[in-house]
Amino acid sequence: MRIGLYPGTFDPITLGHTDIIKRACALVDRLVIGVAINRDKGPLFDLEERVAMVEAECAGLGDETGTEIIIHPFENLLIDCAHDVGAQIIVRGLRAVADFEYEYQMVGMNRAMDSSVETVFLMAEARYQSIASKLVKEIARLRGDVSCFVPEAVEAALLEKLR
Ligand code: ADP
Repeated sequence: MRIGLYPGTFDPITLGHTDIIKRACALVDRLVIGVAINRDKGPLFDLEERVAMVEAECAGLGDETGTEIIIHPFENLLIDCAHDVGAQIIVRGLRAVADFEYEYQMVGMNRAMDSSVETVFLMAEARYQSIASKLVKEIARLRGDVSCFVPEAVEAALLEKLR
């Protein structure tokens, strides 16, 4: 059974994330979406809110893709989280060159800790590639329209949070 772990902060989940989740589902039998607690990053949405939004956006996707989807909050090392959930594959999304340097180091260091866990990079559809949660939050804070970057329910949650 192929188990993939797709980790992130998901603060909040965007159409970039959901695109990567759908693509990842085509590669594995079970996809664990690891929602990082990330207190240091000072998330806008608390862990429960982020998990609930990821859950809502993934509901139905399992049936659609035939892949089992599990949402798993985690606070430990990514490689330990991969062991905890039995993942042989870590899925990451790649956007521009800016992501590359960080991801390059992560792969190197994770591989040094456990070379049996493979990291796989996926790219979202072109229109979703530039989306970043951080920028979505900035746009929403300045009362911009984020409807083409996030699912409808997330847009509503952002408006409510920033009211
Ligand atoms: P962000 O970097 O937007 O704050 P996360 O930390 O939640 O988001 O990212 C989780 C993973 O999803 C990372 O591998 C990140 O590169 C990827 N990702 C986020 N947005 C996109 C996107 N628009 N296209 C492809 N991958 C993405």
